[in-house]
Amino acid sequence: MHNLDLFKEQISSSSPKKIIITTHYKPDADALGSSLGVANYLKKKGHQVLVVTPSDYPSFLNWMKGNDEVVNFEERDKQEWVRDRVHEADMIFCLDFSCLKRLHELGELVKQSKAFKVNVDHHQDPEDFADFQFLSTKAAATCELVFELIILAGDKDLLDKDIAECLYAGIMTDTGGFKHPNTTKNIHLVTAELIGLGADNAKIARLIYDTNSLNRLKFLGFALTRRLQILEDCQTAYFAISKKDLRKYDSQTGDTEGLVNYALSLDGIKVAALFTEKRDGVKISFRSAEEVAVNKFAATHFNGGGHKNAAGGVSELNMKETLEKFEYLIRENKHILFNQLELINEKNQ
Ligand code: 5GP
Ligand code: MN
Repeated sequence: MHNLDLFKEQISSSSPKKIIITTHYKPDADALGSSLGVANYLKKKGHQVLVVTPSDYPSFLNWMKGNDEVVNFEERDKQEWVRDRVHEADMIFCLDFSCLKRLHELGELVKQSKAFKVNVDHHQDPEDFADFQFLSTKAAATCELVFELIILAGDKDLLDKDIAECLYAGIMTDTGGFKHPNTTKNIHLVTAELIGLGADNAKIARLIYDTNSLNRLKFLGFALTRRLQILEDCQTAYFAISKKDLRKYDSQTGDTEGLVNYALSLDGIKVAALFTEKRDGVKISFRSAEEVAVNKFAATHFNGGGHKNAAGGVSELNMKETLEKFEYLIRENKHILFNQLELINEKNQ
């Protein structure tokens, strides 16, 4: 039987299934939007659904329908209960990631589970752990794929305003507000359908982009004036944010989101990075412009990966050592990183 038929058979069974939905560590709007979009859909199909996230997520996502029932696996008192739920699950949906390590401790539980696993994602180099994969690196967002999967499952009539708003949020943010090169004709067609279903695009943009705390705005000002470094010879700019900086501005989950884009917005800059000091090392976000690919750089040197123009990774060194390593590697790899760009520029001259 074709996998899609098997998937349809699983979700269309008349007896309610116990379903866990999960997504990557520190979920963003695409991760949470796809999870709650699928959760709301599966509930309408009569299933018993639980969304488990491996960590907390920004409060500017709290408006999504079903948010109140999401369980954060990092809360110690919930872990035993979640373990039992995963153990007895009939199906597990893994959304917006395709390497189990992005689930952190939850990954082992999912790996061991005998449930029917579904993986919907748009990242590069997926692991092969699911019984049904719905993957495309061409998709701008996992929410785009979720929309298409619901249609393919023959359930277009189950789509509603709540589901549409969850999916719209993921598409809006993963396209950078419809600015990135992944903003295709198809994504506009899907978006038109979502607005047609009642998604309030202006409200969602305001909730996600224009709901800052005063501390967050002050932190942005501080980072721009005191923490931005420019490596002009490498067309690179980066922010390095310490734990102390984060404490000073009472930083909440999500407060550093988008910061890296300010570095990339500088005229002439093609590579941007954000280094954030954590308890056990440094978390890194990479962004790049045009043909410069940062995902391979992140994978080769910082145990990470991602998309061509937006990737991430980690470093177990301290901040000073991490920055030294980064600056060294950027200079060493300049010719590789910028090669394609230079070729394109030469062609255009
Ligand atoms: P962000 O900088 O917004 O945290 O992440 C941008 C993209 O980089 C994500 O969509 C994801 O594809 C990728 N990414 C971020 N952190 C990691 C990581 O630690 N490992 C891998 N493989 N990819 C990451
Ligand atoms: Mn995504």
